[in-house]
Amino acid sequence: MSLVERDLKVIWHPYTQMKLAQPPIPIVRGEGASLYAEDGKRYIDAISSWWVNIHGHAHPYIAQKVAEQLKQLEHVIFAGFTHPVAVELAERLLAILPDNQQKVFYSDNGSTAVEVAIKMCLQYWSNQGQSRTKMLAFKNAYHGDTFGAMSVSGRSAFTAAFDSLLFEVEFIDLPTEDNIESLKSQISNLKLNLACFIFEPLVQGSAGMLMYEAKYLEQLVAHCNTEQVLTIADEVFTGFGRTGKPFACDHINARPDIMCFSKGLTGGTMALGVTTCTQQIFDAFLSDDKLKTLFHGHSFTANPIACSAALASMDLFLEQATTDNIIRIAAAHSQFADKIKHHPKIKTVRQTGTIIAMEWETGSNTSYFNTLRDRLYHYFLDAGIILRPLGNILYILPPYCITNTDLDYIYAKIEHALDEI
Ligand SMILES: *Cc1c(COP(=O)(O)O)cnc(C)c1O
Repeated sequence: MSLVERDLKVIWHPYTQMKLAQPPIPIVRGEGASLYAEDGKRYIDAISSWWVNIHGHAHPYIAQKVAEQLKQLEHVIFAGFTHPVAVELAERLLAILPDNQQKVFYSDNGSTAVEVAIKMCLQYWSNQGQSRTKMLAFKNAYHGDTFGAMSVSGRSAFTAAFDSLLFEVEFIDLPTEDNIESLKSQISNLKLNLACFIFEPLVQGSAGMLMYEAKYLEQLVAHCNTEQVLTIADEVFTGFGRTGKPFACDHINARPDIMCFSKGLTGGTMALGVTTCTQQIFDAFLSDDKLKTLFHGHSFTANPIACSAALASMDLFLEQATTDNIIRIAAAHSQFADKIKHHPKIKTVRQTGTIIAMEWETGSNTSYFNTLRDRLYHYFLDAGIILRPLGNILYILPPYCITNTDLDYIYAKIEHALDEI
């Protein structure tokens, strides 16, 4: 039996209608921005394997550090115990985050990082005897697939089966010059009930790479600070260079109370989640009363292998070469955007840092499930490029090590697709 046949017998894939899906592509090896299939075909990973990879696949330096850690300590319970890599990672992360971030709480992935953030906010208020349980989020937000994270995400086809069970959230529009004042007064009106405001800074990934301006985010976060509404910056996707700066919140001066990280944290090597918070949040849980404890943890909290991958990824991330690559990709994207923006099939093209998104003209049917999406997906796969359009929105977000040759090839194929599809 082939690998694919064996897969189809035993595996249920994520976000996949198993009745209709094409068989999965068997990948056996990765190197740089390339993935190699069982039959030897090379694919350019133009979406960084679901937005996680930043330094390229099977990076030798990360592999070496992980291998060393595996021989030293693979795992230890993190309640009542600690270990060097978890402490070093927390120290080094806090050193590059906004300076109000003072404590690191580990979990396993982006959704759990968000769950922890939500629980921190809810219990922050309840520990002080205040009932503030409503949450504020942006329309079309995506914060993960577990129930709390799903609750603060926009209601959509993906949440439909669960909508009646999700907790109540106030959804507001993305900020613009026209609505910023009204958003601020909405927040002021709701403030006494609000536990927190959670947002994806600058780019809403899953919504279709929707982008909004830093100066309005700045105003919203500053306003929440003044109104004592806690803020959670979900940097699970935007963290570690995606937006052109180390963190999307580096584009603003106002500082969030809580930040969430995962995807790029280990360079895309291991599952790891981090929630950071201010001293003020942390202090609200300090008590002689044990009921004020943050009762949350996972079996693999602060797994040493994952922490060592994150440390190795951070070494690479802080090299000048990585910054240069991010600037190089952003410049290439912006040139390409200028080139195609007037194409009749392009509705809009937008870019933030290493992320570029193109909205295709589709006539009437713009849903995620329209057939254009599938045609584009397979067209690029045939061309040896992994691109995974969100409905009629095609986006590129490559590992930072991608070569100019590969980038130019992707751009050329997109131009070709614009004329052919
Ligand atoms: C992907 C994502 C998550 C969820 O992360 P998982 O590791 O997939 O659970 C949360 N927030 C944002 C902004 C994301 O893009």
